[in-house]
Amino acid sequence: MISRIDLRGSLPGDLRDVLPRAELDVEAALEKVRPICEGVRHRGAAAVREYTRDFDGVELERTRVPVEEIHRALRELDPAVRDALEESIRRARLVHRDQRRTDTTTQVVPGGRVTERWVPVGRVGLYVPGGRAVYPSSVVMNVVPAQEAGVASLAVTSPAQKEHGGLPHPTILAACALLGVEEVHAAGGAQAIAMFAYGTEECPRADLVTGPGNIWVAAAKRLLKGVIGIDSEAGPTEIAILADDTAGPVHVAADLISQAEHDPLAAAVLVTDSVALADAVEAELRVQVARTRHTERITEALAGRQSGIVLVDDVEAGLKVVDAYAAEHLEIQTADAAAVAARVRNAGAIFVGPHAPVSLGDYLAGSNHVLPTGGCACHSSGLSVQSFLRGIHVVEYDEQALAEATARVVVLAEAEDLPAHGAALKARFDWQVPAPAEE
Ligand code: NAD
Repeated sequence: MISRIDLRGSLPGDLRDVLPRAELDVEAALEKVRPICEGVRHRGAAAVREYTRDFDGVELERTRVPVEEIHRALRELDPAVRDALEESIRRARLVHRDQRRTDTTTQVVPGGRVTERWVPVGRVGLYVPGGRAVYPSSVVMNVVPAQEAGVASLAVTSPAQKEHGGLPHPTILAACALLGVEEVHAAGGAQAIAMFAYGTEECPRADLVTGPGNIWVAAAKRLLKGVIGIDSEAGPTEIAILADDTAGPVHVAADLISQAEHDPLAAAVLVTDSVALADAVEAELRVQVARTRHTERITEALAGRQSGIVLVDDVEAGLKVVDAYAAEHLEIQTADAAAVAARVRNAGAIFVGPHAPVSLGDYLAGSNHVLPTGGCACHSSGLSVQSFLRGIHVVEYDEQALAEATARVVVLAEAEDLPAHGAALKARFDWQVPAPAEE
């Protein structure tokens, strides 16, 4: 059901070559999504509707969801789901509110200062997946940081659902209503990302698109980056668990399965120095997978080359492995888990000890669940208030401070063979700009 990689003895030089990872051919998917994005660029909403018919089997009249449908979804929401969503929003708001940044002013020299001013992005498009599963939790994870950052205009998009009259899933609409979002579109996949990047008659273009999605969504984000800002490529989910013989195999197996449930391309990786734990987890997987609702999808994910059990000599070696892997979600289930977690350098989010499973973070920990996948955690962060802000440097120098800087600016400009740069400063004082050399 799940393969083993034995790295006991010595670790290879470049660990990334031997660790399980999906052959997620985003490059190949790029070729497929290119005409979709071009179609939306040139034909706008008509193209979005056409691809929605092709990929989601829904004939739409318009992508924009009537506001009345959003409010109706909230009225009809199961009270228990409403309660859970409200608590999820409350906790996420607590964490994200604390991420807000204040402007900083640095007095560089007397009379010369630089302020870093944090300004929210003007308009953002928030992608909420809705293919194999629907993700009202992703509404919370996208919208809360955008709102806390002070974004003025935000629009949510999620795939049209055939069984819900072509609207996004009602729980997604209800989550939007709870958060006060009234612009929602029924569009998914690459065409939704292109809709935000180029704008359509129904959806003005956005400056930034964020949110997780499948390989088509990730490919469209990669293709259109630059036309529109993106967060990280938050593709098919990954869980890595670093565990020793103090971990409970029942819990380790359940946590691996919980993320395999997302997608046949999801990755579940156990890194351990305990053969006994590896054996027990494998046995548990066999028992527990058979009992799940999505057995087929989970089996495919666990058996895929992106998943596996990695055996190492000790927790020290395990730390090297998980750092090289740079998982989206990393659980530490070892003795002294907090100390081990403190040494991790690369992960989208870290879940410490036996009482912090990834599923808690998916819904209710307060942390964000839109996280970098595919090894991107070594250079990118998950979604946060920061994702929706830009830092603008505001430069203020008085005459005296500029005069004192001029000689050095002129020297550096000459060193770069850009004398007009120096001249721009000298022109403010009585210095002579040298005449061009005579032929
Ligand atoms: P999705 O909304 O991402 O994708 C569905 C859309 O894909 C459809 O609307 C359709 O338009 C398009 N599509 C389907 N088949 C296509 C094809 N052959 N060609 C072109 N387009 C096609 O929903 P999903 O498929 O359920 O995927 C959600 C993903 O999001 C999962 O992989 C899950 O693991 C991931 N996820 C990641 C995070 C994270 O933070 N990294 C968080 C939550 C979910």
